[in-house]
Amino acid sequence: MGDPPTVLVVDDNVLNLAIICDVLGEDYNVITAKCGPEALQILASHPLPQLVMLDVVMPEMNGFEVCKEIKATNEWKDIPVIFLTSLNSEADEACGLELGAADYITIPFNPSLMKARVKNHICMKLYYDRLMESSLVDGLTGLPNRKRFDETLAQEWRRSFRSGDPLSFIIVDIDHFKEYNDAYGHLAGDSCLKKVACQLSNTLRRPGDFLGRWGGDEFVALMPQTDATGAMLLAERFKHKISILAIPHESSPVIPLITISLGVATMIPRGGECSEELIKRADEALFTAKKAGRNRIVQRLTGISSSIGTR
Ligand code: GH3
Ligand code: MG
Repeated sequence: MGDPPTVLVVDDNVLNLAIICDVLGEDYNVITAKCGPEALQILASHPLPQLVMLDVVMPEMNGFEVCKEIKATNEWKDIPVIFLTSLNSEADEACGLELGAADYITIPFNPSLMKARVKNHICMKLYYDRLMESSLVDGLTGLPNRKRFDETLAQEWRRSFRSGDPLSFIIVDIDHFKEYNDAYGHLAGDSCLKKVACQLSNTLRRPGDFLGRWGGDEFVALMPQTDATGAMLLAERFKHKISILAIPHESSPVIPLITISLGVATMIPRGGECSEELIKRADEALFTAKKAGRNRIVQRLTGISSSIGTR
């Protein structure tokens, strides 16, 4: 069994906090904040809770304002918020729900009912998280999919832009894979894709490195804080690791084994450029590798057309 879900309880009344912690503490990891700003600071600096329970009347920042802030922040907006408050007018309840709260419970509350509502919302949140997670994973190889790659690239591009570090990108494409399917069948093709994915994934060493399935027989690697030399080393390692898998491919015009072609590009993001440029450069390099005979690496060294590093 994993860790219990976390509930962040926000209330300026210490007695209320103690009661709520007592009710929920058996089933959940409960963390507390005594005011809105403290709650927001916890959200910003801790692993995210699966649910927030919010008092409304608090000094500095009331619960409605806190909820508004949570729902307006991309990373937090999917955390369910339950108001737990002594404000019991229908107008207040409507206001809380319209702000995006999942539920509105008034004090005094029935502990069993409160527990049941919390449990329902947490179940829905865990289910939602699993769905979101699986929408970002490629079903065949288990690698992150194109959608996850797009998100990661946008994030790493921004990070490299701020830090001035180089960002490297490799696109890997299996050679004559269509012929492999034709010769060995699609199930063998699927199994080959899984082996290649696993081998490429085992080649990455740094925690920040990313490998994903781009689609079809193409894989992509994104390496933050990696210059052109480092990117080339990794591309060579990829190529070597696939060669030692030695998967027979008798109908390949290259050699009778599965081989890959790789396009490599490195950029230090600057204003006025966008991340698509990095993909475009690696893609062009891959195209050159394919045209030059496959089973090779081509590196796009500069922003201008020169591309070298073929081996
Ligand atoms: P090239 O050397 O130019 O890359 O030739 P290629 O035959 O590999 O051509 P391309 O990369 O354009 O074709 C990819 C092929 O990969 C097409 C399709 O038959 C196969 N493919 C794509 N997705 C899957 C998959 O999920 N499973 C299997 N078995 N085959 C796939
Ligand atoms: Mg291919």
